[in-house]
Amino acid sequence: MIRQFELLERVLEYDPDADEDALNRAYVYAMKMHGSQKRASGDPYFSHPNEVAGILTEYRLDTASIITALLHDTVEDTDATAEDLQKHFGDEVLQLVDGVTKLTRIELLSDQSQQAENFRKLLLAMSKDIRVLLVKLADRLHNMRTLNYIENPNKRHRIAQETMEIYAPLAERIGMHAIKNELEELAFAELNPDARNSVLTRLDFLRKESGESISGIIGQLTDLMKGSGFRVRIFGREKQPHSIWRKMQRESITFEQLSDIMAFRLIVPGIDDVYRALGAIHAAYPVVPGRFKDYISTPKPNGYQSLHTGVFGPRGERIEVQIRTEEMQDVAERGVAAHWSYKQGVGSTEGPQYRWLRELLEILDQASGPEEFLENTKLEMFQDQVFCFTPKGYLISLPFGATPVDFAYAVHSEVGDTCVGAKINGRIRPLKVELRNGDQVEILTSKAQTPSPEWERFVVTGRARARIRRFMRAREREQYGELGRSILIKAFREAGYEYSDKALDGVLKRLKSNSAHDVFAAVGSGHFTAREVVETVYPGVKAKRLGPEKVVPIGRARTRSGKEKTPSVPIVGLISGMAVHFAGCCHPLPGDRIVGIITTGKGVTIHTIDCHELEGLSDQPERWLDVSWEMEGQDADIHVGRLNLVLSNEAGSLGAISNIIAKNDGNISNLNITNRSADFFEILLDIEVKDLKHLTNIIAALRASNVINEVERARG
Ligand code: MN
Repeated sequence: MIRQFELLERVLEYDPDADEDALNRAYVYAMKMHGSQKRASGDPYFSHPNEVAGILTEYRLDTASIITALLHDTVEDTDATAEDLQKHFGDEVLQLVDGVTKLTRIELLSDQSQQAENFRKLLLAMSKDIRVLLVKLADRLHNMRTLNYIENPNKRHRIAQETMEIYAPLAERIGMHAIKNELEELAFAELNPDARNSVLTRLDFLRKESGESISGIIGQLTDLMKGSGFRVRIFGREKQPHSIWRKMQRESITFEQLSDIMAFRLIVPGIDDVYRALGAIHAAYPVVPGRFKDYISTPKPNGYQSLHTGVFGPRGERIEVQIRTEEMQDVAERGVAAHWSYKQGVGSTEGPQYRWLRELLEILDQASGPEEFLENTKLEMFQDQVFCFTPKGYLISLPFGATPVDFAYAVHSEVGDTCVGAKINGRIRPLKVELRNGDQVEILTSKAQTPSPEWERFVVTGRARARIRRFMRAREREQYGELGRSILIKAFREAGYEYSDKALDGVLKRLKSNSAHDVFAAVGSGHFTAREVVETVYPGVKAKRLGPEKVVPIGRARTRSGKEKTPSVPIVGLISGMAVHFAGCCHPLPGDRIVGIITTGKGVTIHTIDCHELEGLSDQPERWLDVSWEMEGQDADIHVGRLNLVLSNEAGSLGAISNIIAKNDGNISNLNITNRSADFFEILLDIEVKDLKHLTNIIAALRASNVINEVERARG
């Protein structure tokens, strides 16, 4: 446990302007709140946030991050509330603690991580401020360091697995190599102790056999660099069991072949010196072919820069040598935390999978100093995406604004084509609602369903749109074809000829068509008239025998009225022949998002999407119909909007309302006083309007009036 003054000293050492008072208060507050709580190890619980804060001081993080580390479990595990934190430590700390708490909850929710990469993205998306992630990683590191105290082996295993699949790669992504290595090593010890032990045994053997020690080689390298004319710091270490193990898997080498177990690092002042040092090493020792890598000219996506090479060392054993500048060393050790002091030297990164990082680096480049970096570095790259789960826990990532239909098509195009409804977090919701981060989406399908043209209005993914369009084109062609053929047969008969496909064959070219079906479709869709076709086949046919002709496009031909005008109900997505009426509970207006509910014998009732009546219908998906307003044709119909008003009980207030409404071209069709008190009364007002926009204008005008206290649309 780090004592209060020690923690303060550590922070002040790199940040003399740190807020001592706040740090002290956070320390005492967290200790008090966790009180007598104990860790699995038997230590006081406070030792955990305390150590997490300690880890972050090694990365020289700002005061807010250190305070967040101290407080990170108080909201979840103690009586502390968000209000308390805000009161004592301000908004910034509250936001950070809240972010860490949210990440912790995702972790508890999902122990399935088949799609680790997507899960990592979800974590990134959820941590809007990169400091949230840094605190979370330090939190996980300390939990891994104390993992052995957890008695339940399944729980230990799960935590280790999650660390290996999610957190270690995440640490690597943001360049926190030291944390990544330690996390991996600790997880490896839990997940595969046998493998780890055999690597350790082999390392032991190789060490004895070569007779060469790390310090011995450091000595030789130091001698070699003596004449170089620049200062060199040399470190040596044995590779970690896990990185050796992974290398064996990746390169399918055996324990017997495993030889380069020692790695050395030369830290030099400038970039020129890096290449000079490399020259000296390559001149002194034989080079292992294929091991040289230049991460200086081509940095790793996380900003890591260094030269790597492999040589046969003093006794012929293979060793790895890394050469880099002080600055590169700092980036390698501290990752993103290093960038606020060293912005230059971070190279560009390529590849779509690193888009988030490029954007992060751009943000870093634009930040003018440490404070701005810390204050403003938001992980915005995933803010334009939502991440949702299938019922089995697979993660589907979609663009912002995506709907269950997009989700269905993302799962499989078959699923998309046949989807009839969606359960979001267990509740039936309309197909057009926007999905939110973390939603679990279950798509209900029916073999009888085909894509609806209505869907095209709200899907946002190209994949969904393309499938729907393709289906619509094929179906239109088919329908226009049928229609066109029957129009043609009729036109031929009226002109005194018997129609045959053969008759068309000779004139396909002149009709600029490839097949008889093309001609049908063109006639059916109104591209050319039946008369034109007849005249082309039988030039000189008497025009009067043909009479006037009207092409009735199929979409219009099916309206109930039979007229070719817009249908009387300006809604698309209805079932033809079914009666439609507007719900009296929510009074939908053109512009509202709506759904249709099928009632046997009564037809379809249109509700607004947020109508409370719908809750009672959530278990009957077969009754839900996806509909929307027909927006193309200007609709002159009048609709009724219903408002709840609260107004002052004073002379003339009702008159003022009717004036405002009349001035805005509205018409009061019904007024009902629902509640009356000495000072106020509440009324329910039905107003005839053209559409939602019209009603919204009236609401705005009413709100501007000083006799009105509240205006709201009546809902359900
Ligand atoms: Mn914790």
